[in-house]
Amino acid sequence: MAASAINPSEPRPLTILSIFAHPDDEAFGSGGTLAGLVKKGHRLTIVCVTNGDVGEISDPALATPENLWEVRQGELRRAMEVTGIPDVRFLGYRDSGMDGTPDNENPSSLSQAEPARIEEQIAALMDELSPDIVFTHDPTGGYGHPDHITVYERTTAVVESMTGKRPHLYYVCFPRGNFRKLWQEMVDADITPPFAVESLDSLGSPDEYVTTIKDVSAYVDIKQESLRCHQTQLDPNGPFGKIAPEVMTGWMSTEYFYLHRPDGDDTLADILVDLL
Ligand SMILES: [Zn+2]
Repeated sequence: MAASAINPSEPRPLTILSIFAHPDDEAFGSGGTLAGLVKKGHRLTIVCVTNGDVGEISDPALATPENLWEVRQGELRRAMEVTGIPDVRFLGYRDSGMDGTPDNENPSSLSQAEPARIEEQIAALMDELSPDIVFTHDPTGGYGHPDHITVYERTTAVVESMTGKRPHLYYVCFPRGNFRKLWQEMVDADITPPFAVESLDSLGSPDEYVTTIKDVSAYVDIKQESLRCHQTQLDPNGPFGKIAPEVMTGWMSTEYFYLHRPDGDDTLADILVDLL
């Protein structure tokens, strides 16, 4: 067995690196898995590529458009404190906003950054941490946010180009079938869904794309407490705030991943299956 191979029955703590675009991207799709991996004694680092500068402000008492970036950095640090991840880092790019908005053109935005520069920063993290597992966005970016797609592309390119020890690269997925189910549940509960019925054919990852489904109900309390730290992004009067708490807990208790196998290497074990 190669020195870098991972053996789930071996107690060696693994090094796990999560790279996401915005300060709350870790929360819904992977927060339970991250909390579980912390509980199992693994070492985790979270890297946030932008500061989420153009996100929502749920309550004007919490932030202004000018200081939202700083407030959101604090929210992520607190969320990770709850999860048990003290190593939180920011690459400092400006949030590019949704496709076609003027924020895309801001010279400090991630969409204007040189791909080679972003890859250099991600490669430096790989060199420093030598992770066993990397989590990032999936190719669809969940709902197509350009920053999610950039982070997916750059992280994948770095992992593909690595020689020697290569981490298990997992994409956090939001299956399309779940968007449909959630849409229907919202309509049935008289909640106006935040996405149009026409978008349901393209939102999220195709269901068959998911390789790994994790039941994270053992960690869902930590996940929810962590999620609540992203206060500026949580509007109690928004569509998600109106979902019944027990229904929301149900949605949050399962997480979905795709294991990317470089060069189509079918022998690469799905390590996440046995880790939690
Ligand atoms: Zn995001």
